[in-house]
Amino acid sequence: MPRFILVLVIAALALVYVQARASWWLTFMIVWVAAAHVTGAAGQVATTVLAILFVLPALVLTIKPLRRTWLAKPVVDIFRKILPEMSPTERDAIEAGTVWWDAQLFSGRPHRDTLLGYGPATLTPEEQSFLDVECEKLCDLVNDWETTMVWQDLSPTTWQYIKDKGFLGMTIPKQYGGKQFSAYAHSQVIMKLATRCSAAAVSVMVPNSLGPAELLMHYGTEEQKKHYLPRLARGEEIPCFALTSPYAGSDAAVIPDVGIVCKGTFEGRETLGFHVTWDKCYITFGSIATVLGLAFRALDPDRLLGGDAEPGITCALIPTDHPGVNIGRRHWPLNAVFQNGPNSGKDVFIPLDWVIGGRAQVGNGWRTLMKYLAAGRAISLPSSNVGMAKIAVRGTGAYAAVRHQFRTAVGKFEGVQEALGRMGGNLYVMDAARRLSAHAVDLGDRQISHHRTHAHGDQRRHGRRRRQRHLHGAVELSCARL
Ligand SMILES: Cc1cc2nc3c(=O)[nH]c(=O)nc-3n(C[C@H](O)[C@H](O)[C@H](O)COP(=O)(O)OP(=O)(O)OC[C@H]3O[C@@H](n4cnc5c(N)ncnc54)[C@H](O)[C@@H]3O)c2cc1C
Repeated sequence: MPRFILVLVIAALALVYVQARASWWLTFMIVWVAAAHVTGAAGQVATTVLAILFVLPALVLTIKPLRRTWLAKPVVDIFRKILPEMSPTERDAIEAGTVWWDAQLFSGRPHRDTLLGYGPATLTPEEQSFLDVECEKLCDLVNDWETTMVWQDLSPTTWQYIKDKGFLGMTIPKQYGGKQFSAYAHSQVIMKLATRCSAAAVSVMVPNSLGPAELLMHYGTEEQKKHYLPRLARGEEIPCFALTSPYAGSDAAVIPDVGIVCKGTFEGRETLGFHVTWDKCYITFGSIATVLGLAFRALDPDRLLGGDAEPGITCALIPTDHPGVNIGRRHWPLNAVFQNGPNSGKDVFIPLDWVIGGRAQVGNGWRTLMKYLAAGRAISLPSSNVGMAKIAVRGTGAYAAVRHQFRTAVGKFEGVQEALGRMGGNLYVMDAARRLSAHAVDLGDRQISHHRTHAHGDQRRHGRRRRQRHLHGAVELSCARL
Protein backbone atom coordinates (compact mmCIF):
# COMPACT_ATOMS: atom_id res chain seq x y z
CA MET A 1 0.00 0.00 0.00
CA PRO A 2 2.78 2.54 0.74
CA ARG A 3 3.86 2.19 -2.88
CA PHE A 4 0.31 2.94 -4.03
CA ILE A 5 0.20 6.02 -1.83
CA LEU A 6 3.55 7.13 -3.31
CA VAL A 7 2.11 6.64 -6.82
CA LEU A 8 -0.96 8.64 -5.78
CA VAL A 9 1.14 11.58 -4.50
CA ILE A 10 3.46 11.64 -7.53
CA ALA A 11 0.59 11.34 -10.01
CA ALA A 12 -1.41 14.05 -8.23
CA LEU A 13 1.58 16.41 -8.35
CA ALA A 14 2.05 15.64 -12.05
CA LEU A 15 -1.64 16.28 -12.76
CA VAL A 16 -1.47 19.58 -10.88
CA TYR A 17 1.68 20.52 -12.77
CA VAL A 18 0.09 19.97 -16.20
CA GLN A 19 -3.17 21.58 -14.99
CA ALA A 20 -5.00 18.40 -15.94
CA ARG A 21 -8.69 18.46 -16.72
CA ALA A 22 -11.14 17.01 -14.18
CA SER A 23 -11.78 14.02 -16.50
CA TRP A 24 -8.07 13.05 -16.27
CA TRP A 25 -8.28 13.12 -12.50
CA LEU A 26 -11.39 10.93 -12.59
CA THR A 27 -9.73 8.46 -14.94
CA PHE A 28 -6.62 8.29 -12.80
CA MET A 29 -8.64 7.81 -9.59
CA ILE A 30 -10.64 4.93 -11.10
CA VAL A 31 -7.51 3.23 -12.44
CA TRP A 32 -5.67 3.74 -9.14
CA VAL A 33 -8.46 2.34 -6.94
CA ALA A 34 -9.04 -0.55 -9.36
CA ALA A 35 -5.32 -1.37 -9.44
CA ALA A 36 -5.15 -1.29 -5.64
CA HIS A 37 -8.07 -3.73 -5.50
CA VAL A 38 -6.90 -6.07 -8.28
CA THR A 39 -3.36 -6.35 -6.90
CA GLY A 40 -4.75 -7.05 -3.46
CA ALA A 41 -3.18 -3.91 -1.96
CA ALA A 42 -6.68 -2.87 -0.84
CA GLY A 43 -9.29 -5.27 0.42
CA GLN A 44 -13.04 -4.97 -0.13
CA VAL A 45 -13.59 -2.47 2.69
CA ALA A 46 -10.50 -0.40 1.88
CA THR A 47 -11.46 -0.28 -1.80
CA THR A 48 -14.93 1.02 -0.88
CA VAL A 49 -13.42 3.67 1.41
CA LEU A 50 -10.91 4.73 -1.28
CA ALA A 51 -13.69 4.92 -3.89
CA ILE A 52 -15.76 7.14 -1.58
CA LEU A 53 -12.79 9.32 -0.69
CA PHE A 54 -11.27 9.70 -4.15
CA VAL A 55 -13.49 8.48 -6.98
CA LEU A 56 -16.75 10.00 -5.76
CA PRO A 57 -15.44 13.59 -5.38
CA ALA A 58 -13.71 13.32 -8.78
CA LEU A 59 -16.99 12.06 -10.26
CA VAL A 60 -18.99 14.96 -8.80
CA LEU A 61 -16.45 17.51 -9.97
CA THR A 62 -16.25 16.05 -13.47
CA ILE A 63 -19.88 15.47 -14.40
CA LYS A 64 -21.52 18.84 -14.85
CA PRO A 65 -25.11 18.00 -13.82
CA LEU A 66 -23.81 16.28 -10.65
CA ARG A 67 -21.48 19.17 -9.91
CA ARG A 68 -24.26 21.71 -10.32
CA THR A 69 -26.80 19.80 -8.21
CA TRP A 70 -24.56 18.60 -5.39
CA LEU A 71 -21.96 21.33 -5.20
CA ALA A 72 -22.60 24.58 -7.04
CA LYS A 73 -26.27 25.00 -6.13
CA PRO A 74 -25.89 24.42 -2.37
CA VAL A 75 -22.90 26.79 -2.26
CA VAL A 76 -24.73 29.47 -4.27
CA ASP A 77 -27.78 29.06 -2.00
CA ILE A 78 -25.60 29.73 1.05
CA PHE A 79 -24.10 32.81 -0.57
CA ARG A 80 -27.54 34.06 -1.58
CA LYS A 81 -28.53 34.04 2.08
CA ILE A 82 -25.35 35.83 3.16
CA LEU A 83 -25.20 38.52 0.45
CA PRO A 84 -27.68 41.43 0.33
CA GLU A 85 -30.24 41.14 -2.44
CA MET A 86 -29.22 42.76 -5.71
CA SER A 87 -31.33 45.77 -6.69
CA PRO A 88 -32.48 46.20 -10.30
CA THR A 89 -30.08 49.16 -10.68
CA GLU A 90 -27.15 47.08 -9.45
CA ARG A 91 -28.18 44.32 -11.82
CA ASP A 92 -28.28 46.79 -14.72
CA ALA A 93 -24.80 48.01 -13.81
CA ILE A 94 -23.39 44.49 -13.65
CA GLU A 95 -25.13 43.33 -16.79
CA ALA A 96 -24.15 46.37 -18.87
CA GLY A 97 -21.99 45.11 -21.71
CA THR A 98 -19.86 42.01 -21.65
CA VAL A 99 -16.61 41.01 -19.99
CA TRP A 100 -14.65 40.54 -23.22
CA TRP A 101 -11.35 38.70 -23.27
CA ASP A 102 -10.67 39.80 -19.69
CA ALA A 103 -13.01 37.05 -18.49
CA GLN A 104 -10.40 34.57 -19.60
CA LEU A 105 -7.97 35.93 -17.04
CA PHE A 106 -10.22 34.35 -14.45
CA SER A 107 -10.57 31.07 -16.32
CA GLY A 108 -7.18 29.81 -15.22
CA ARG A 109 -6.31 29.21 -18.85
CA PRO A 110 -6.41 32.54 -20.72
CA HIS A 111 -6.36 32.16 -24.47
CA ARG A 112 -3.24 34.06 -25.44
CA ASP A 113 -3.74 33.54 -29.17
CA THR A 114 -7.16 35.17 -29.03
CA LEU A 115 -5.59 38.19 -27.36
CA LEU A 116 -2.74 38.34 -29.86
CA GLY A 117 -5.26 37.91 -32.66
CA TYR A 118 -6.74 41.32 -31.88
CA GLY A 119 -3.52 42.87 -33.20
CA PRO A 120 -2.06 46.14 -32.02
CA ALA A 121 -4.09 49.33 -31.83
CA THR A 122 -3.10 51.70 -34.64
CA LEU A 123 -3.78 55.28 -35.69
CA THR A 124 -5.04 56.44 -39.07
CA PRO A 125 -2.85 59.02 -40.88
CA GLU A 126 -5.40 61.70 -39.92
CA GLU A 127 -5.25 60.74 -36.24
CA GLN A 128 -1.45 60.59 -36.29
CA SER A 129 -1.29 64.02 -37.91
CA PHE A 130 -3.65 65.46 -35.28
CA LEU A 131 -1.41 64.08 -32.57
CA ASP A 132 1.75 65.44 -34.22
CA VAL A 133 0.43 68.85 -35.19
CA GLU A 134 -2.63 70.11 -33.30
CA CYS A 135 -1.96 68.21 -30.10
CA GLU A 136 1.70 69.20 -30.14
CA LYS A 137 0.71 72.84 -30.61
CA LEU A 138 -1.77 72.64 -27.73
CA CYS A 139 1.03 71.24 -25.56
CA ASP A 140 3.09 74.31 -26.50
CA LEU A 141 0.24 76.60 -25.44
CA VAL A 142 -0.25 75.24 -21.94
CA ASN A 143 1.68 74.31 -18.87
CA ASP A 144 0.68 73.47 -15.32
CA TRP A 145 2.43 76.47 -13.81
CA GLU A 146 0.58 79.02 -15.94
CA THR A 147 -2.84 77.39 -15.56
CA THR A 148 -2.50 77.19 -11.78
CA MET A 149 -0.51 80.34 -10.96
CA VAL A 150 -1.68 82.81 -13.62
CA TRP A 151 -5.09 81.90 -15.01
CA GLN A 152 -6.46 79.36 -12.53
CA ASP A 153 -8.01 78.01 -15.69
CA LEU A 154 -6.77 77.46 -19.23
CA SER A 155 -5.82 80.73 -20.88
CA PRO A 156 -8.42 82.28 -23.26
CA THR A 157 -6.07 81.56 -26.19
CA THR A 158 -5.88 77.92 -25.19
CA TRP A 159 -9.65 77.59 -24.84
CA GLN A 160 -10.12 79.10 -28.29
CA TYR A 161 -7.52 76.78 -29.81
CA ILE A 162 -9.19 73.75 -28.22
CA LYS A 163 -12.56 74.74 -29.67
CA ASP A 164 -11.25 75.80 -33.10
CA LYS A 165 -9.25 72.64 -33.68
CA GLY A 166 -12.05 70.26 -32.75
CA PHE A 167 -10.57 68.84 -29.55
CA LEU A 168 -14.05 68.79 -27.99
CA GLY A 169 -15.52 66.72 -30.82
CA MET A 170 -12.97 63.93 -31.18
CA THR A 171 -15.57 61.21 -30.66
CA ILE A 172 -18.44 62.85 -32.56
CA PRO A 173 -19.13 61.33 -36.01
CA LYS A 174 -17.94 63.26 -39.06
CA GLN A 175 -21.49 63.61 -40.36
CA TYR A 176 -22.17 65.82 -37.32
CA GLY A 177 -18.98 67.82 -37.70
CA GLY A 178 -16.78 65.82 -35.35
CA LYS A 179 -13.49 64.03 -35.94
CA GLN A 180 -14.79 60.49 -35.40
CA PHE A 181 -11.51 59.36 -33.90
CA SER A 182 -11.01 55.89 -32.53
CA ALA A 183 -10.95 55.30 -28.78
CA TYR A 184 -7.23 54.62 -29.16
CA ALA A 185 -6.59 57.99 -30.86
CA HIS A 186 -8.68 59.68 -28.17
CA SER A 187 -6.58 57.96 -25.55
CA GLN A 188 -3.29 58.98 -27.20
CA VAL A 189 -4.38 62.64 -27.26
CA ILE A 190 -5.45 62.68 -23.60
CA MET A 191 -2.30 60.87 -22.52
CA LYS A 192 -0.09 63.35 -24.35
CA LEU A 193 -1.91 66.37 -22.94
CA ALA A 194 -1.68 64.92 -19.43
CA THR A 195 2.11 64.90 -19.69
CA ARG A 196 1.96 68.65 -20.17
CA CYS A 197 -1.02 70.05 -18.27
CA SER A 198 -3.61 68.20 -16.25
CA ALA A 199 -6.25 70.94 -16.67
CA ALA A 200 -5.90 70.70 -20.46
CA ALA A 201 -6.23 66.91 -20.35
CA VAL A 202 -9.35 67.03 -18.15
CA SER A 203 -10.93 69.84 -20.16
CA VAL A 204 -10.53 67.86 -23.38
CA MET A 205 -11.43 64.45 -22.00
CA VAL A 206 -14.66 65.30 -20.19
CA PRO A 207 -16.76 66.39 -23.19
CA ASN A 208 -15.35 63.46 -25.17
CA SER A 209 -16.16 60.86 -22.57
CA LEU A 210 -18.45 61.89 -19.75
CA GLY A 211 -20.37 64.57 -21.61
CA PRO A 212 -23.82 64.26 -23.15
CA ALA A 213 -22.39 63.73 -26.66
CA GLU A 214 -21.88 60.02 -26.09
CA LEU A 215 -25.47 59.59 -24.91
CA LEU A 216 -26.80 61.71 -27.76
CA MET A 217 -24.93 59.63 -30.33
CA HIS A 218 -26.47 56.42 -29.07
CA TYR A 219 -29.88 57.47 -27.84
CA GLY A 220 -30.59 61.01 -29.06
CA THR A 221 -33.41 61.68 -31.46
CA GLU A 222 -32.27 62.77 -34.92
CA GLU A 223 -33.45 66.28 -34.12
CA GLN A 224 -31.36 66.37 -30.92
CA LYS A 225 -28.32 65.02 -32.71
CA LYS A 226 -28.58 67.58 -35.51
CA HIS A 227 -29.03 70.39 -33.03
CA TYR A 228 -26.42 69.57 -30.43
CA LEU A 229 -23.65 67.44 -31.96
CA PRO A 230 -22.29 70.03 -34.45
CA ARG A 231 -22.39 72.72 -31.77
CA LEU A 232 -20.62 70.47 -29.29
CA ALA A 233 -18.01 69.52 -31.90
CA ARG A 234 -17.28 73.19 -32.62
CA GLY A 235 -17.19 74.08 -28.94
CA GLU A 236 -20.12 76.45 -29.31
CA GLU A 237 -21.87 74.50 -26.59
CA ILE A 238 -19.93 73.53 -23.48
CA PRO A 239 -21.47 70.44 -21.91
CA CYS A 240 -21.41 68.97 -18.46
CA PHE A 241 -23.05 65.87 -17.10
CA ALA A 242 -24.56 65.92 -13.64
CA LEU A 243 -25.28 62.52 -12.16
CA THR A 244 -23.92 62.41 -8.62
CA SER A 245 -25.13 64.61 -5.80
CA PRO A 246 -24.05 65.48 -2.24
CA TYR A 247 -25.99 62.43 -1.02
CA ALA A 248 -25.29 59.91 -3.77
CA GLY A 249 -21.75 59.39 -5.05
CA SER A 250 -20.50 55.84 -5.55
CA ASP A 251 -24.06 54.64 -5.08
CA ALA A 252 -25.31 56.95 -7.83
CA ALA A 253 -28.42 54.88 -8.47
CA VAL A 254 -30.01 56.38 -5.35
CA ILE A 255 -29.85 60.01 -6.46
CA PRO A 256 -32.55 61.99 -4.64
CA ASP A 257 -33.09 64.38 -7.59
CA VAL A 258 -36.58 63.99 -9.05
CA GLY A 259 -38.60 65.00 -12.08
CA ILE A 260 -42.36 64.76 -11.69
CA VAL A 261 -44.26 64.28 -14.92
CA CYS A 262 -46.76 67.10 -15.37
CA LYS A 263 -48.22 69.51 -17.87
CA GLY A 264 -46.70 72.97 -18.05
CA THR A 265 -46.30 75.92 -20.32
CA PHE A 266 -43.31 76.05 -22.59
CA GLU A 267 -42.85 78.70 -25.30
CA GLY A 268 -46.48 79.70 -24.81
CA ARG A 269 -47.93 76.22 -25.31
CA GLU A 270 -49.21 73.62 -22.87
CA THR A 271 -46.65 70.84 -22.98
CA LEU A 272 -46.06 67.50 -21.27
CA GLY A 273 -42.84 67.58 -19.29
CA PHE A 274 -41.28 67.40 -15.82
CA HIS A 275 -41.01 69.59 -12.79
CA VAL A 276 -37.42 68.86 -11.91
CA THR A 277 -35.77 69.46 -8.55
CA TRP A 278 -32.08 68.72 -8.20
CA ASP A 279 -28.94 69.53 -6.31
CA LYS A 280 -25.64 68.33 -7.78
CA CYS A 281 -22.06 68.95 -6.80
CA TYR A 282 -18.55 68.40 -8.15
CA ILE A 283 -19.77 68.56 -11.72
CA THR A 284 -16.91 69.00 -14.16
CA PHE A 285 -17.57 72.00 -16.42
CA GLY A 286 -20.62 72.71 -14.21
CA SER A 287 -19.36 76.24 -13.70
CA ILE A 288 -19.05 77.11 -17.40
CA ALA A 289 -21.47 74.74 -19.16
CA THR A 290 -24.02 76.06 -21.63
CA VAL A 291 -25.87 72.75 -21.69
CA LEU A 292 -26.47 70.66 -18.61
CA GLY A 293 -26.88 66.91 -18.96
CA LEU A 294 -28.97 66.03 -15.93
CA ALA A 295 -29.84 62.67 -14.42
CA PHE A 296 -32.92 62.54 -12.19
CA ARG A 297 -35.47 59.99 -11.06
CA ALA A 298 -38.65 60.35 -13.11
CA LEU A 299 -41.89 59.99 -11.14
CA ASP A 300 -45.26 59.82 -12.85
CA PRO A 301 -47.84 59.73 -10.03
CA ASP A 302 -50.72 60.64 -12.37
CA ARG A 303 -49.51 58.18 -15.01
CA LEU A 304 -49.51 60.84 -17.68
CA LEU A 305 -47.02 58.78 -19.67
CA GLY A 306 -49.32 55.79 -19.43
CA GLY A 307 -46.85 53.47 -17.74
CA ASP A 308 -45.18 52.97 -14.40
CA ALA A 309 -45.65 55.47 -11.57
CA GLU A 310 -41.88 55.44 -11.08
CA PRO A 311 -40.26 55.11 -14.51
CA GLY A 312 -36.75 55.56 -13.02
CA ILE A 313 -33.55 57.41 -13.80
CA THR A 314 -33.86 59.66 -16.81
CA CYS A 315 -31.29 61.87 -18.57
CA ALA A 316 -32.20 65.23 -20.07
CA LEU A 317 -30.33 68.11 -21.70
CA ILE A 318 -31.13 71.51 -20.22
CA PRO A 319 -29.72 74.79 -21.52
CA THR A 320 -28.10 76.46 -18.53
CA ASP A 321 -29.81 79.77 -19.29
CA HIS A 322 -33.20 78.09 -18.80
CA PRO A 323 -35.15 79.89 -16.03
CA GLY A 324 -34.61 78.21 -12.66
CA VAL A 325 -31.23 76.62 -13.40
CA ASN A 326 -28.75 77.70 -10.72
CA ILE A 327 -25.09 77.45 -11.52
CA GLY A 328 -23.34 77.64 -8.18
CA ARG A 329 -19.95 78.92 -7.21
CA ARG A 330 -16.93 77.15 -8.57
CA HIS A 331 -15.40 74.19 -6.72
CA TRP A 332 -11.63 73.85 -6.38
CA PRO A 333 -11.19 70.09 -6.02
CA LEU A 334 -7.76 69.72 -4.39
CA ASN A 335 -6.99 73.09 -5.98
CA ALA A 336 -7.10 71.56 -9.45
CA VAL A 337 -7.97 74.31 -11.89
CA PHE A 338 -10.13 72.51 -14.43
CA GLN A 339 -13.62 73.94 -14.25
CA ASN A 340 -15.90 72.20 -11.76
CA GLY A 341 -18.92 73.36 -9.80
CA PRO A 342 -22.35 72.61 -8.33
CA ASN A 343 -25.75 73.26 -9.87
CA SER A 344 -29.31 73.03 -8.67
CA GLY A 345 -32.94 73.82 -9.49
CA LYS A 346 -36.31 73.66 -7.78
CA ASP A 347 -39.50 72.73 -9.61
CA VAL A 348 -37.98 73.75 -12.92
CA PHE A 349 -40.31 72.86 -15.79
CA ILE A 350 -38.64 71.13 -18.75
CA PRO A 351 -40.47 69.73 -21.79
CA LEU A 352 -40.44 65.98 -22.44
CA ASP A 353 -38.51 66.65 -25.67
CA TRP A 354 -35.44 67.52 -23.63
CA VAL A 355 -35.06 63.94 -22.45
CA ILE A 356 -32.17 62.40 -24.39
CA GLY A 357 -33.96 60.13 -26.86
CA GLY A 358 -37.35 61.66 -26.04
CA ARG A 359 -40.28 59.88 -24.44
CA ALA A 360 -39.02 56.39 -25.32
CA GLN A 361 -35.97 56.88 -23.08
CA VAL A 362 -37.81 58.04 -19.96
CA GLY A 363 -36.67 55.63 -17.21
CA ASN A 364 -33.81 54.14 -19.25
CA GLY A 365 -31.16 56.55 -17.99
CA TRP A 366 -29.37 54.24 -15.61
CA ARG A 367 -28.90 51.47 -18.15
CA THR A 368 -27.66 53.90 -20.79
CA LEU A 369 -25.28 55.59 -18.37
CA MET A 370 -23.82 52.28 -17.30
CA LYS A 371 -23.42 51.14 -20.84
CA TYR A 372 -21.96 54.17 -22.54
CA LEU A 373 -20.37 56.51 -20.04
CA ALA A 374 -18.35 53.65 -18.64
CA ALA A 375 -16.68 53.22 -22.03
CA GLY A 376 -15.58 56.84 -21.95
CA ARG A 377 -14.23 56.44 -18.46
CA ALA A 378 -12.18 53.47 -19.59
CA ILE A 379 -10.42 55.86 -21.94
CA SER A 380 -10.23 59.18 -20.15
CA LEU A 381 -9.12 58.26 -16.64
CA PRO A 382 -6.53 55.63 -17.60
CA SER A 383 -5.10 57.84 -20.35
CA SER A 384 -4.64 60.85 -18.11
CA ASN A 385 -3.23 58.69 -15.31
CA VAL A 386 -0.74 57.04 -17.64
CA GLY A 387 0.25 60.44 -19.05
CA MET A 388 0.95 61.77 -15.57
CA ALA A 389 2.83 58.61 -14.64
CA LYS A 390 4.95 58.93 -17.80
CA ILE A 391 5.99 62.47 -17.00
CA ALA A 392 6.67 61.49 -13.38
CA VAL A 393 8.89 58.60 -14.45
CA ARG A 394 10.65 60.71 -17.06
CA GLY A 395 11.29 63.56 -14.64
CA THR A 396 12.47 61.28 -11.88
CA GLY A 397 14.74 59.34 -14.20
CA ALA A 398 16.25 62.52 -15.63
CA TYR A 399 16.78 63.98 -12.19
CA ALA A 400 18.45 60.79 -11.02
CA ALA A 401 20.83 61.12 -13.96
CA VAL A 402 21.85 64.75 -13.43
CA ARG A 403 21.81 64.97 -9.63
CA HIS A 404 25.19 64.02 -8.24
CA GLN A 405 25.98 63.13 -4.66
CA PHE A 406 29.19 61.52 -3.41
CA ARG A 407 30.56 62.38 -6.87
CA THR A 408 28.11 59.91 -8.41
CA ALA A 409 24.76 60.37 -10.21
CA VAL A 410 22.14 59.34 -7.64
CA GLY A 411 20.56 57.09 -10.29
CA LYS A 412 23.65 54.88 -10.06
CA PHE A 413 22.99 53.95 -6.42
CA GLU A 414 21.42 50.52 -6.13
CA GLY A 415 18.54 51.61 -3.90
CA VAL A 416 17.60 54.32 -6.38
CA GLN A 417 18.01 51.99 -9.33
CA GLU A 418 15.62 49.54 -7.72
CA ALA A 419 12.96 52.23 -7.27
CA LEU A 420 13.49 53.53 -10.81
CA GLY A 421 13.25 50.01 -12.21
CA ARG A 422 10.01 49.39 -10.39
CA MET A 423 8.55 52.65 -11.64
CA GLY A 424 9.52 51.89 -15.23
CA GLY A 425 8.16 48.35 -15.02
CA ASN A 426 4.86 49.48 -13.55
CA LEU A 427 4.58 52.12 -16.23
CA TYR A 428 4.87 49.51 -18.98
CA VAL A 429 2.07 47.51 -17.33
CA MET A 430 -0.12 50.60 -17.03
CA ASP A 431 0.44 51.60 -20.61
CA ALA A 432 -0.30 48.10 -21.87
CA ALA A 433 -3.58 48.07 -19.92
CA ARG A 434 -4.49 51.51 -21.30
CA ARG A 435 -3.84 50.46 -24.90
CA LEU A 436 -5.72 47.22 -24.51
CA SER A 437 -8.74 48.95 -22.95
CA ALA A 438 -8.95 51.54 -25.71
CA HIS A 439 -8.48 48.85 -28.36
CA ALA A 440 -11.24 46.77 -26.78
CA VAL A 441 -13.60 49.73 -26.98
CA ASP A 442 -12.69 50.16 -30.66
CA LEU A 443 -13.33 46.47 -31.26
CA GLY A 444 -16.82 47.00 -29.96
CA ASP A 445 -16.68 45.70 -26.40
CA ARG A 446 -17.91 48.81 -24.72
CA GLN A 447 -18.63 46.97 -21.55
CA ILE A 448 -14.97 46.69 -21.06
CA SER A 449 -15.43 50.15 -19.77
CA HIS A 450 -17.85 48.97 -17.20
CA HIS A 451 -15.56 46.14 -16.42
CA ARG A 452 -12.70 48.57 -16.20
CA THR A 453 -14.50 51.02 -14.00
CA HIS A 454 -16.07 48.49 -11.66
CA ALA A 455 -14.90 44.91 -11.62
CA HIS A 456 -11.56 45.42 -13.19
CA GLY A 457 -12.60 48.95 -13.63
CA ASP A 458 -9.22 47.77 -14.31
CA GLN A 459 -7.54 50.50 -15.79
CA ARG A 460 -8.80 53.11 -13.48
CA ARG A 461 -7.82 51.27 -10.36
CA HIS A 462 -4.60 49.99 -11.84
CA GLY A 463 -3.82 53.49 -12.94
CA ARG A 464 -4.34 54.92 -9.52
CA ARG A 465 -2.52 52.16 -7.75
CA ARG A 466 0.35 52.36 -10.14
CA ARG A 467 0.54 56.09 -9.76
CA GLN A 468 0.64 55.70 -6.04
CA ARG A 469 3.47 53.31 -6.50
CA HIS A 470 5.24 55.82 -8.67
CA LEU A 471 4.80 58.40 -5.99
CA HIS A 472 6.04 55.94 -3.43
CA GLY A 473 8.94 55.34 -5.74
CA ALA A 474 9.60 59.06 -5.86
CA VAL A 475 9.45 59.26 -2.08
CA GLU A 476 11.87 56.38 -1.85
CA LEU A 477 14.07 58.22 -4.27
CA SER A 478 14.04 61.28 -2.04
CA CYS A 479 14.81 59.08 0.94
CA ALA A 480 17.67 57.57 -0.95
CA ARG A 481 19.01 61.07 -1.49
CA LEU A 482 18.86 61.74 2.23
C1 LIG B 1 -12.90 66.31 -9.45
C2 LIG B 1 -14.24 65.67 -9.52
C3 LIG B 1 -14.99 65.76 -10.67
C4 LIG B 1 -16.26 65.19 -10.72
N1 LIG B 1 -17.01 65.34 -11.86
C5 LIG B 1 -18.27 64.83 -11.87
C6 LIG B 1 -19.10 65.04 -13.00
O1 LIG B 1 -18.71 65.67 -13.99
N2 LIG B 1 -20.35 64.53 -12.97
C7 LIG B 1 -20.81 63.82 -11.90
O2 LIG B 1 -21.95 63.38 -11.94
N3 LIG B 1 -20.05 63.62 -10.80
C8 LIG B 1 -18.79 64.11 -10.76
N4 LIG B 1 -18.01 63.93 -9.66
C9 LIG B 1 -18.53 63.18 -8.53
C10 LIG B 1 -17.99 61.77 -8.54
O3 LIG B 1 -18.71 61.00 -9.48
C11 LIG B 1 -18.11 61.23 -7.12
O4 LIG B 1 -17.14 61.91 -6.35
C12 LIG B 1 -17.86 59.75 -7.07
O5 LIG B 1 -18.94 59.06 -7.64
C13 LIG B 1 -17.64 59.26 -5.65
O6 LIG B 1 -18.68 59.67 -4.82
P1 LIG B 1 -18.37 60.44 -3.45
O7 LIG B 1 -17.34 61.50 -3.71
O8 LIG B 1 -19.68 60.87 -2.91
O9 LIG B 1 -17.69 59.36 -2.51
P2 LIG B 1 -18.46 58.28 -1.62
O10 LIG B 1 -19.43 57.52 -2.47
O11 LIG B 1 -18.99 58.95 -0.42
O12 LIG B 1 -17.28 57.33 -1.24
C14 LIG B 1 -16.34 57.66 -0.21
C15 LIG B 1 -15.28 56.60 -0.18
O13 LIG B 1 -15.87 55.32 0.12
C16 LIG B 1 -15.50 54.37 -0.88
N5 LIG B 1 -16.60 53.45 -1.17
C17 LIG B 1 -17.87 53.76 -1.49
N6 LIG B 1 -18.58 52.64 -1.71
C18 LIG B 1 -17.73 51.59 -1.52
C19 LIG B 1 -17.86 50.18 -1.59
N7 LIG B 1 -19.01 49.59 -1.93
N8 LIG B 1 -16.78 49.42 -1.33
C20 LIG B 1 -15.61 50.00 -1.01
N9 LIG B 1 -15.41 51.33 -0.92
C21 LIG B 1 -16.47 52.12 -1.18
C22 LIG B 1 -15.18 55.20 -2.12
O14 LIG B 1 -14.27 54.55 -3.00
C23 LIG B 1 -14.56 56.45 -1.51
O15 LIG B 1 -13.18 56.25 -1.25
C24 LIG B 1 -16.76 64.49 -9.60
C25 LIG B 1 -15.98 64.37 -8.45
C26 LIG B 1 -14.74 64.96 -8.39
C27 LIG B 1 -13.93 64.83 -7.13
